[in-house]
Amino acid sequence: MKSTSKRASRRASLSLPELQAEIARTFLKRDRRRGLMGTFGWFVEEVGELSTALREERPGSKAQAAEFADCLAWLVSLANLTGVDLDEAVRRKYAGGCSRCRRQPCQCRSKK
Ligand SMILES: [Zn+2]
Repeated sequence: MKSTSKRASRRASLSLPELQAEIARTFLKRDRRRGLMGTFGWFVEEVGELSTALREERPGSKAQAAEFADCLAWLVSLANLTGVDLDEAVRRKYAGGCSRCRRQPCQCRSKK
């Protein structure tokens, strides 16, 4: 069987649209086979791993950074499966300050 995959090169930085496209090129076929809720399950598992890393690893360590990256990648996979444009969603909700009070920094009463 002939493989159509190729080695991807590392970029110096990634914008959110670039990241979403990169995650789609890398994982979307597999994500579709797994399905939305199966992929959501992996996302939740990664959130659990981030929780552990936040409690047990040195703040800002490579181990913590890796868990942030994993959570973001699975979140992006979910956006790809649902057709959500993450850049548009984030800009709509968070560009220009708090989505509720529109201030920077937020002046909403904090939830404790
Ligand atoms: Zn606010």
